[in-house]
Amino acid sequence: MDLYYKSTRDSNVKATASEAILTGLAPDGGLFVPESIPALDVPLEKLKKMSYQETAYAVMKQFLTDFTEEELKRCIDKAYDEKFDTEEIVPLVKMDNTYYLELFHGATIAFKDMALSILPHLLTTSAKKNRTSNEIVILTATSGDTGKAAMAGFADVEGTRIIVFYPKDGVSKVQKLQMATQKGKNVAVVAIHGNFDNAQSGVKAMFEDKALAKELEEKGYQFSSANSINIGRLVPQVVYYVYAYAKLLENDEIQEGETVNVVVPTGNFGNILAAYYAKKMGIPIDKLVCASNENKVLFDFLKTGIYDRNRQFVLTSSPSMDILISSNLERLIYLIAGEDSKKTKELMEALKRDGKYEITENMRRKLSDFAGGYATEEQTAEEIKRVYEKTGYVIDTHTAVASHVCKEICGDDKKCVIASTASPYKFVKSVMTAIDKAYEGEDEFALLENMCNVSKTEMPQAIKDILDAEVLHRTECDADKMEETVKNILGI
Ligand SMILES: *Cc1c(COP(=O)(O)O)cnc(C)c1O
Repeated sequence: MDLYYKSTRDSNVKATASEAILTGLAPDGGLFVPESIPALDVPLEKLKKMSYQETAYAVMKQFLTDFTEEELKRCIDKAYDEKFDTEEIVPLVKMDNTYYLELFHGATIAFKDMALSILPHLLTTSAKKNRTSNEIVILTATSGDTGKAAMAGFADVEGTRIIVFYPKDGVSKVQKLQMATQKGKNVAVVAIHGNFDNAQSGVKAMFEDKALAKELEEKGYQFSSANSINIGRLVPQVVYYVYAYAKLLENDEIQEGETVNVVVPTGNFGNILAAYYAKKMGIPIDKLVCASNENKVLFDFLKTGIYDRNRQFVLTSSPSMDILISSNLERLIYLIAGEDSKKTKELMEALKRDGKYEITENMRRKLSDFAGGYATEEQTAEEIKRVYEKTGYVIDTHTAVASHVCKEICGDDKKCVIASTASPYKFVKSVMTAIDKAYEGEDEFALLENMCNVSKTEMPQAIKDILDAEVLHRTECDADKMEETVKNILGI
């Protein structure tokens, strides 16, 4: 059966999976959502025995129904290969009675690789299917990890260009260098004078600008998005939750049908939404625990039903979660509004206009699958130290936020899977000083060796690669000059 996608803001907009992937954002500014979330059609008994790639096919074929078997399998094989430093792709590590699902074994050592190693293939396949001859320009705002993962995925992919905007002072030193050293004829990187929300709003405004779209069309370009507003990013993320549950069963860690909690360090709400989709597909997940850092707009929303971004933006040690506008929440809002696109549009317009909105009592009741918690900077550091001292396992700052929230609110009666979203090497300074204050004065790069010794792990290739790479990108711009910058880069 064919599954179509509709816009969260206009139920008359309808697209195939490949059309939705190709355009990224719906023409009315809404997000594409599947008309219904399919029930898994492969029994867990079978999934237990499957490799990551096989699981990916079993899950994704139900969402991307206009892809042929051959097309989808080719995308999967090109994505989940030796770029990952382990055959398991996403190891599930048991520590202290908790399961850390390590999503950082790809090319850029953060969980964004899970979706961004396949998105370029889904996108170029979609372009072919829809006979697009334009060059596709990927515009991306990043809080640090998306940008590098997207560039790594799209570098020198024929028929594409990629332009990445990141907040100049809002990313770690490793993240910045990872982006600034990216090779590829078709890549451009720009540091903006502003925060992630400015970058994301600027990109969204360009997507919604009809005049700009026309100008691009005339020059043979069209925009698409590598941000998690693209359904082509969300769907691959459902896979690892299905895979993790099947592995818990296979390893006799749980009984058939036993529910588990999933704890996700959350920023733009994409990763946790994928877990929710996995639950809707039939995976026995009990609570979806949304873990925030000090930018706890989602924690407050889950507690009060009021989403309010009018607050101080805090720069934390988990920068990939320094976000006040969680764009994927719109997909959940749409579902809890009973798929009411008018209501969703009204709330999203209020968010844009007033920076806040309040959901109805009825909608709040439908949030019972979710729980929320947050960690302060101090609690994040304490959690890194606690886990290390108890088990020897070193977690990154984002994972630590989730680990802290798990400890606070999950209790002992249920197994918990924590989405471990980044390698500790990526945030080496914060992680090492959390373990021992004595490292405070040290240079970030000098600490990498210390981390090898402390964690008894090898330095990831992604880190070795940047240590002696040449800086290729130095462009900067003001937050309100992003459109001009894009035109300059494209030469129009
Ligand atoms: C992007 C990111 C997150 C947040 O994920 P969302 O899908 O945006 O909620 C958490 N941790 C790390 C390391 C990330 O890169």
